[in-house]
Amino acid sequence: MPRELVAEPDLQFTQDLIAAGAGDLKKCYQCATCSVACRIAPDNNPFPRKEMIWAQWGLRDRLMNDPDIWLCHQCNDCSTQCPRGAYPGDVLKAVRKMAIQENSWPSFLGKLVGTPGLFVVAIGFPVLVVLALIFMNKGFTFPQPVKYGAFIDYIHIQVVFTLALIFAVVSLVLSLKKFWANLESGNSLNMPGARKGFIPSLIEAFKEVLPHTTFKDCQANNIRYASHLLVFWGMIGLFITTAIVAFNIDILHLAPPSQNGPGTIPIKILGNVSAVAFILGLGIMLVRRLTAPEQTGGSSYFDWFFLFVIFGTGLTGLLTELVRWAGSAPGAYILYTIHLMFVLALLLYLPFSKFAHMGYRTVAITWGKASGRNLKLPVQPNFVPAPAEAASEEAKG
Ligand code: SF4
Ligand code: SF4
Repeated sequence: MPRELVAEPDLQFTQDLIAAGAGDLKKCYQCATCSVACRIAPDNNPFPRKEMIWAQWGLRDRLMNDPDIWLCHQCNDCSTQCPRGAYPGDVLKAVRKMAIQENSWPSFLGKLVGTPGLFVVAIGFPVLVVLALIFMNKGFTFPQPVKYGAFIDYIHIQVVFTLALIFAVVSLVLSLKKFWANLESGNSLNMPGARKGFIPSLIEAFKEVLPHTTFKDCQANNIRYASHLLVFWGMIGLFITTAIVAFNIDILHLAPPSQNGPGTIPIKILGNVSAVAFILGLGIMLVRRLTAPEQTGGSSYFDWFFLFVIFGTGLTGLLTELVRWAGSAPGAYILYTIHLMFVLALLLYLPFSKFAHMGYRTVAITWGKASGRNLKLPVQPNFVPAPAEAASEEAKG
């Protein structure tokens, strides 16, 4: 029996994609050059050509349940080779933004982070929380020598930031759980007998994600790979540094690194090396975004919000330490205040900003491993599909 494709276009979705940065998607005439150009698209049912027609037709569910949008690393090789200037790399980026909003829990925070008109509200909340912490302590008085614990009690910071971290983790897990359910219900790519368990698939995905191996295969844009690797490992180093400092203060009751307590030199080295890698990677991203837009693709508000928060976090952290070394107590306290605001924004909006792409990409790769998405299809000799079935499959992409 020939299979029928019932298309239920959501034209508002297409308009939303255009507003999210996919402004040229309607120029696509389905030549498939992009799928051929993409070095990391699987042989079986490659991207991004099929996503282009789904986006033009407004096939919202297809795109929201599509694991392939997360396999793309935005190298933009497809965009530079597209004969129509349809910028498929930008279209996939816009679809990813919509997918983060679609899966976000709670959903209003997805809208808050993705809407330019709500920038002041999004940034205002962490600003107010940190100001409240300061005025719960001694207000803007600057004890000398610099002791951040005398400015805002560490226990207050730990309560607020631990709650924010728990909220971020719970939100991200619930959002990714919804995404996984959508992948399972919306795809039928599983090869019989190829199904693997979640944990082995997750381990395989980590082996790919931690060294960014697929990103490296995407050779068209190697500098992008290097800058992402610097940011990724810099961030992990900063997270480990923060965890060790918190453990030393809370459990071992040691002095914080700013007071040169025992054993703080290795922590400072790890923290500073990680911070430099983080800032360097982000700096490269920012400069390229401003000077080579043909390689980075167009930049939407969603990109800039993420870069603003993450770059602000790294830069204010580094400046806080430099200014303290330089002996300016007021400068150090003010920068420390701004740094706390950025860190709180980073934590609170982690599951709703572009930052979340690390989680979605890992889940999509895991699903790909579990379902056999990337395995080669067995060749079926002498198999010729019936004309109606072939047309239906072609329409599906
Ligand atoms: S996006 Fe460009 S390269 Fe890809 S199918 Fe459409 S016209 Fe062809
Ligand atoms: S941007 Fe790069 S990785 Fe993404 S579809 Fe295009 S060529 Fe492939």
